[in-house]
Amino acid sequence: MIWLLFGAPGSGKGTQSKNIQAEFGFGHLSTGDMFRKNIKEGTALGKKAQEFMKDGNLVPDEVVIGMVGEELSAEKPCILDGFPRTLPQGEGLSNLLDEKSLALGGVIYLEVPHSDLMNRLTGRRVCKKCGEVYHIDFKPTTKEGVCDVCEGEVIHRNDDKPEVIENRLSVFLNQTEPLLKYYKDKGVLYKIDGVGESSEVFSRVEEILRKNH
Ligand code: ADP
Ligand code: ZN
Repeated sequence: MIWLLFGAPGSGKGTQSKNIQAEFGFGHLSTGDMFRKNIKEGTALGKKAQEFMKDGNLVPDEVVIGMVGEELSAEKPCILDGFPRTLPQGEGLSNLLDEKSLALGGVIYLEVPHSDLMNRLTGRRVCKKCGEVYHIDFKPTTKEGVCDVCEGEVIHRNDDKPEVIENRLSVFLNQTEPLLKYYKDKGVLYKIDGVGESSEVFSRVEEILRKNH
């Protein structure tokens, strides 16, 4: 069973994925994390992805679909975070699910107003090692620059700089948002309010998963 976490950059997909993993024991595939890992390791895939990511553009569909196809397995329920992000990726995922005889549990859309996203993203910091997400105002680390969870280095992602954020948000509106209708038409879209404490948002996510899991 595959669940999609869907939302604009900064909507809290990464944070909620971690909560779902912890509470439900689901697996977690984040295409953004996979690309960042490849960039760090200097692989050919990483070099390719970097060309697009640095400006906040999307990595080409065939590259993303190929990468997800290699990782997706039926072992246990899994959350996809950050994929699909375009209609062709939605079709690509649908084919992958068929090939692997996997079912789509549903799509959880974390809805957050545009004005909040900018603020969340510019203040966002992430742990380089474990991926824990922080915010300079709303959720600071206890010790500056050091992860509370694993003591890894906490950084400001390059694509969380203001000029790149603008582009990522407009890419979301133009290329990703059309998927909402696609999944709504399939009857699998669950829209939730993504504003509030992360624990409040998680209780909304949880309710959907418990009912449909
Ligand atoms: P966010 O959701 O906060 O933008 P991600 O870590 O999911 O952060 O993505 C960071 C970047 O990785 C994107 O801006 C894009 O360049 C690339 N990326 C991630 N997932 C995809 C995808 N499904 N298709 C194309 N590019 C992707
Ligand atoms: Zn950490």
